[in-house]
Amino acid sequence: MQTQPSRSISSPRVVDVLLPVALDHAYSYRVPAGRELQPGDVVSVPLGAREVIGVVWADNPNPDPRLHNRLKDISEKLDLPPLRPELRSLVDWVANYTLAPRGMVLRMTLRMGELGPERVRPGVRLTGPAPRRLTPARRRLLDILADGLLHGKAEAAQEAGCSLSVIDGLVDEGTLTVEPLPRPPAPPPPDPAFAQPDFSPEQRAAAEQLRGLAAGGFQVALLDGVTGSGKTEVYFEAVAEVLRRGEQVLILMPEIALTGQFLDRFAARFGVRPLEWHSELTPRTRARNFAAITDGTAPVVVGARSALFLPYARLGLIVVDEEHDQAYKQEDGAHYHARDMAVVRGSIAKIPVVLASATPSVETEVNARKGRYQRVPLPNRFGGQHMPQIEAIDLRQEGPGRGRFIAPRLAEQIGFAIERREQALLFLNRRGYAPLTLCRACGHRFACTICDAWLVDHRFRQRLVCHHCGFSIPRPPSCPHCAAENSLVAVGPGVERLQEEAASLFPQARTMVLSSDLITSIETMRSELNEIAEGRVDIIIGTQLVAKGHNFPRLNLVGVVDADLGLGNGDPRAAERTFQLLNQVIGRAGREQGRGVGFLQTHQPEHPVMKALVACDRAAFYASEIEMRERTGYPPFGRLASLIISAGDRPTAEGFARKLVALAPIDERIKLLGPAEAPLAVIKGRYRFRLLLKAPRNVDLSSYLRHWLAAAPKVSGTLKLEVDVDPQSFL
Ligand SMILES: [Zn+2]
Ligand SMILES: [Zn+2]
Repeated sequence: MQTQPSRSISSPRVVDVLLPVALDHAYSYRVPAGRELQPGDVVSVPLGAREVIGVVWADNPNPDPRLHNRLKDISEKLDLPPLRPELRSLVDWVANYTLAPRGMVLRMTLRMGELGPERVRPGVRLTGPAPRRLTPARRRLLDILADGLLHGKAEAAQEAGCSLSVIDGLVDEGTLTVEPLPRPPAPPPPDPAFAQPDFSPEQRAAAEQLRGLAAGGFQVALLDGVTGSGKTEVYFEAVAEVLRRGEQVLILMPEIALTGQFLDRFAARFGVRPLEWHSELTPRTRARNFAAITDGTAPVVVGARSALFLPYARLGLIVVDEEHDQAYKQEDGAHYHARDMAVVRGSIAKIPVVLASATPSVETEVNARKGRYQRVPLPNRFGGQHMPQIEAIDLRQEGPGRGRFIAPRLAEQIGFAIERREQALLFLNRRGYAPLTLCRACGHRFACTICDAWLVDHRFRQRLVCHHCGFSIPRPPSCPHCAAENSLVAVGPGVERLQEEAASLFPQARTMVLSSDLITSIETMRSELNEIAEGRVDIIIGTQLVAKGHNFPRLNLVGVVDADLGLGNGDPRAAERTFQLLNQVIGRAGREQGRGVGFLQTHQPEHPVMKALVACDRAAFYASEIEMRERTGYPPFGRLASLIISAGDRPTAEGFARKLVALAPIDERIKLLGPAEAPLAVIKGRYRFRLLLKAPRNVDLSSYLRHWLAAAPKVSGTLKLEVDVDPQSFL
């Protein structure tokens, strides 16, 4: 503890405590005499009538003397590892950059739900005489417990088909006793020497480079490898290096539901599965995992973006797999990009970061070209497999008939694939049956009542559903507008409709739809993916869920049903996203046997994205995209920030947006666009307006925004103002 010799005995030490609430400032508290406290300590403090948990952020040597007598004492110091200085710096950094309140960023670190000692699970054991009164439920229970062993209380009740109160009754009568269940033993740690990989010379060189990087210090590497090049196995060597040093590794994944195969590959290399961190863990598992992360007993953590902010005991390496993926951007609460913040954490904690991708984001590609990131290339597929051959199908010339979506040439190729007992994948990034339903008689279109969006027909669920708010209605038998019978028609395709078409073209084929709305849990997702991998499906029809990180050994043909879907919606990243997504989808083909083929159904085969895909010319795509960004000043050559203003009615939202514009400080380097009605003008009954700021790269947009918003009128009533620095979505 710091000594404060200049201070008299009568003035107690004061510290600032940051609380995990949506506030930027810390509160000052007195440290009770004789209490040892350091910055980073987790404490409990009074706030109004409540006791809340917070973190000692800093000493406050000069507290406002007028407040002095009103300051409250810190209640207690909790028995938890202190928040390390680099993590406190990260919280400050992220809050400063994203303009999210510091308390909100702290909340991502100090997971209130998971704090504290692990709850002990109760077990029951038969120890006393049988009860006088024996009901059938009691009899079933006693049969199960007759072995005299300790059983989980909840499990015993479930097995006997009785309620917990039946057990409690028998405990009261002295027949059963309750004892704590022993904790499950911690799994053995991953063993860096468990299985040595069999690498090609190219892979060995890349692994060597990464091992060098993993030796320590802050450095960023771009592991740049095509799909099927063995990126994962190569970065496992960096993981092994860090494990040998006794430090922890965090591997971030964009879609944790799809990591089943990844966990197996990890186990094949290191002997055990790594620990997982994501929102679908049970509270008990999450609490246990949190404890293992903070005390360092979890050497490797595989997690979703939220895992980035956890208080690791000794983090030594961060890997961001599929670094280009949009899922790394959090769009509510604190708006942050986990890949960028991983680099920030690496630089603050002085540890290396590996970004892996087959189609790096333009930002990362530029950083690698400028030498800021070290490029570790893996240009070939493992085992001499070839990249898929890609052809465009010009829908203007050889499109399918009316109401159909699979062009004859694609259908013919699918037929050949099935004959060869191979799998085909039809990719369409649209959930449901049809994106729009209309009445043939009166033209009525089904729209959401509270959003500016059409209702999507979901046949499996027999409902019309809004994809923005979840509002849904049963599909009516007649038009609600003109009462015509059998007049409703589906317009456009979704994956469900595509399955119908595939089934009618290939009645013998086994088809499966993979779409996020049909997945009830990570477990069902993983088992469906296994079914495909084992070859029990002939035609897979999927949304972007299938694009990510899964290996289907028998898949040799991919048909992209609407390659134009992501283009031309006014999004400056549309071309990049479409290129990445389609490249990844087609990269699923031909990974283990034979040569894969990809077909792009498009209305614009002359578009640079389609031409680059067909020519397999990644370099040409990056060259044209980077040139365009540089010319127009878009990221990474310039900076962007969005303000999204929403309110329960249109004039309030628009009025506030205009007021903000009028108050914007003059800075000729910064271009302010808007207010414009957002492309999604109404969501959940909230009217939305957007402002876009565009500035050269050397301008500190965050501090400009802070300065501006400090002078803005307070947000009140239904008004809401969201700040999105480095926006990824423009809807
Ligand atoms: Zn009608
Ligand atoms: Zn809606």
